[in-house]
Amino acid sequence: MKTIFVTGGVVSSLGKGLAAASLGTLLESRGLRVTMQKLDPYLNVDPGTMSPYQHGEVYVLDDGAETDLDLGHYERFTRCVLGRRNNLTSGQVYETVLARERRGDYLGKTVQVIPHVTDEIKSRIHELARKGDADVAIIEIGGTTGDIEGLPFLESIRQYLLEEGEENAMLIHVTLVPFIKAAGELKTKPTQQSVAKLREIGLQPKVVIARSEYALDDDVREKLSLFCNVPKRAVIEARDVDHTIYELPLMLQKEGLDTVVCEALRLETPPARMEDWAKFVERVVRPRKRVSIAVVGKYIELQDAYKSIYESLTHAGAAHDCGIDLVLVDAEDLEAQGGPEKHLRGVAGILVPGGFGDRGIEGKIAAARYARENRTPYLGICLGMQVAVVEFARNVCGHAKADSTEFDPETQYPVIYLMEDQKDVTNKGATMRLGSYPCVLRKNTLAHQLYGAEEINERHRHRYEFNMKYREALEKQGMVVSGTSPDGVLAELVELSNHPWFVACQFHPEFQSRPRATHPLFRGFVAASLSHVC
Ligand code: GLN
Repeated sequence: MKTIFVTGGVVSSLGKGLAAASLGTLLESRGLRVTMQKLDPYLNVDPGTMSPYQHGEVYVLDDGAETDLDLGHYERFTRCVLGRRNNLTSGQVYETVLARERRGDYLGKTVQVIPHVTDEIKSRIHELARKGDADVAIIEIGGTTGDIEGLPFLESIRQYLLEEGEENAMLIHVTLVPFIKAAGELKTKPTQQSVAKLREIGLQPKVVIARSEYALDDDVREKLSLFCNVPKRAVIEARDVDHTIYELPLMLQKEGLDTVVCEALRLETPPARMEDWAKFVERVVRPRKRVSIAVVGKYIELQDAYKSIYESLTHAGAAHDCGIDLVLVDAEDLEAQGGPEKHLRGVAGILVPGGFGDRGIEGKIAAARYARENRTPYLGICLGMQVAVVEFARNVCGHAKADSTEFDPETQYPVIYLMEDQKDVTNKGATMRLGSYPCVLRKNTLAHQLYGAEEINERHRHRYEFNMKYREALEKQGMVVSGTSPDGVLAELVELSNHPWFVACQFHPEFQSRPRATHPLFRGFVAASLSHVC
């Protein structure tokens, strides 16, 4: 297995994860089998307990790992299905090393960052090769060079490059080339300094990807090549994309990134075949139709909090040659009298995503009610399903006080509740129902028709469940449980039988949608929204 490390310099939010993912797209399109890994220097064991304000969305994998949202980019841009070992944090590294120390495995020795921590990091990288069948691993290091926490990772990379040799492993550095208005110039100094920082610790990148608002002219490329000590053709421009992140692989291909990488690692392959990808991008950029979809959430102002949902809508839109006009609605704004009407009138579809805690809950319930009463297509995801059930129990079944015990522990109608096995859980980390579980679909339901399958697998991240005690009462009024766990104990999907398109799921379909494999629920939702007359 060949290994490509990707580090970032100058500032964060450079799109390093997207650059790594795009390289993955290009290498796969050359016929190589690719795997991806993210090394996160922070001390949390995983991002599962971090607020979206800290970290954006928590992305969940098949095996239940709660990971960085970059893993979402990796899965969407490649064909990889990733697992726990594809995201490593300092927290996990120290947890392992310290457990080993307590067991006495290092008896007699002083436990140190070098070699014990660095050995553990390297062994997690080697594990990718041992346990998989990839030709190439692309490994992104979180944070920015110069961060104290990142040093053990960079040291591990230095050792790894030395041990594996030039032809088997390489480093790519992503930096910023800012435009200084007063001088009217692009500036290379920050990049020079961040590469100098890498060289101080013995790392020489083979490729520099320069993120910039403007095209790099020949002079700038010349300078970057000279000061960063890389050939001029290994200076790769990554201009801000015009329309969509999915343009990035095409841009990097034009810049020759995959060619330089394959030469460096002696990978002999035909050129990348990107025709399908280009077609998808074309549909995203110049759709023939448009549709407006409201997303009603509580982290609406944060671009990253519902990342996978926005991406899934983009994929589904492209499948229908249709652009999505997102209407982002803060759930709390719907709580006032007339709020739903004011904010949701005119939208063609309403999506309520997942969430935790009671802020904005009544607003989300109002959104579900608005969709039901106005026959507007509704897609409820996780909490979005739970609020739809609460709303139906309250306003259709007449249990005005129905609730989830998450919001009212004393409610007399706990239509959403905590299952017995969750009641004793005190630790918050990694204790939810997490990861992929099978779901059996009921025949002659919308869900069954959309999936075209009897059994599906979807990823979960929640603690509370639909209370089956109320199933019969709800079904009698027209809210049908259309998917359950194979043993029939857990409700996975509900839908309204007398509504054009009202589907809500306990799982997170957004973690499995890809540009080249649109998710059936999102595809169906966008199609229904397109034919909805507002
Ligand atoms: N808070 C709800 C639960 O824990 C929903 C979680 C979610 O939407 N991801 O069940």
